[in-house]
Amino acid sequence: MSLDFLPMPDEKGYFGEYGGQVIPPQLKQVMDDINDAYEKVSQTDEFIQELAALNADYAGRPSPIYFARRLSEKCGGAGIYFKREDLNHTGAHKINHCLGEALLARYMGKTKVLAETGAGQHGVALATACALVGIDCEIHMGEIDIQKEHPNVTKMKILGCKLVPVSRGTRTLKDAVDSAFEEYLNDPVNYFYAIGSVVGPHPFPKMVRDFQKVVGVEARQQFLDKKGRLPDIITACVGGGSNAIGLFTAFLQDENVKIVGVEPAGKGLDTDEHAATLTLGTKGSIHGFECYNLQDDQGNPLPVYSIASGLDYPGVGPQHCYLKDIQRVEYETADDKECLDAFMTLSRLEGIIPALESAHAIAYAMRTAATMNSDQSILVNLSGRGDKDVDFVAKRLAL
Ligand SMILES: *Cc1c(COP(=O)(O)O)cnc(C)c1O
Repeated sequence: MSLDFLPMPDEKGYFGEYGGQVIPPQLKQVMDDINDAYEKVSQTDEFIQELAALNADYAGRPSPIYFARRLSEKCGGAGIYFKREDLNHTGAHKINHCLGEALLARYMGKTKVLAETGAGQHGVALATACALVGIDCEIHMGEIDIQKEHPNVTKMKILGCKLVPVSRGTRTLKDAVDSAFEEYLNDPVNYFYAIGSVVGPHPFPKMVRDFQKVVGVEARQQFLDKKGRLPDIITACVGGGSNAIGLFTAFLQDENVKIVGVEPAGKGLDTDEHAATLTLGTKGSIHGFECYNLQDDQGNPLPVYSIASGLDYPGVGPQHCYLKDIQRVEYETADDKECLDAFMTLSRLEGIIPALESAHAIAYAMRTAATMNSDQSILVNLSGRGDKDVDFVAKRLAL
């Protein structure tokens, strides 16, 4: 395998033919300024040390690697290990890039950090980072989502961010994106739009990846320390792709490590209700960058669905598109039913309630471990904890 594709992206923000900047001309300069500031600031000792200290003392890094003995015995075959991002402050991997983005916004002298949120996970992580860093935060959220996601809405209010309810259109994530983006265009020089995954225009896919890659850097060393070798397979769920690329980056050059991203098959790949963008999508652009998309004949995003709201996005990070094309990473799927089964199995065998997003990767690991030998191992990124999902699952399974 040729590995000349590292490092990526190129200076225009392309990973092969994906990524770039598909944006209105007035934003080009703003994005280039963010890129320049990021390249400069992120190399300074001050920034590196401040972020490292926050990761350690505030977020609780490094997160441990855990061998799931009972789960592995139940599946039979390979040992299943978890990178415990669920143990981070705020309960998921998102704090890793939110801290980086909030710090960068402060270093750049921005007056306000803006974002949209769907289920509220990105909103809470960002509001947390902004409270810590001391910068104003404004989150746009659809009215339907506000009704559905009460605990996260309350958290954001307590954390002191300005919550803007969006009453237009479907009153969900899609309209919240438009609303937040309009506000951003009012003053892009002084506002910072904090993107919540490895998506959006250059430099965000690169920047968010860089802030997340600590996950894989830690995991690789921890696994070597524990086992004296690398895992046979590493895997993570893929929505926009930030927790996955965070784990994968440190392993891309390890030719003997098979890397698998897991997309949500929802109610089935043969239905319209899934969000398996890399598996079934076609090339196009969305939200300022080029990638595989679930789109109609006119190039409009299709409605997508997953039982895990953090995974229902019709685009996907450009680096994943590239890694798929060059076949360095394989992309598989898990459906709602497998996800729920993995959610309950991990809870009952290990006492760990995973996020429904993460449960997709766990489902893949469970079915794959069973086909492997007992001296082999699979490392799963447990991207977040499932506290947010317990009421939904209890109702769905009539517990
Ligand atoms: C948001 C979220 C995801 C999906 O986002 P990626 O950018 O694909 O990682 C996955 N897991 C958890 C716990 C999340 O909160």
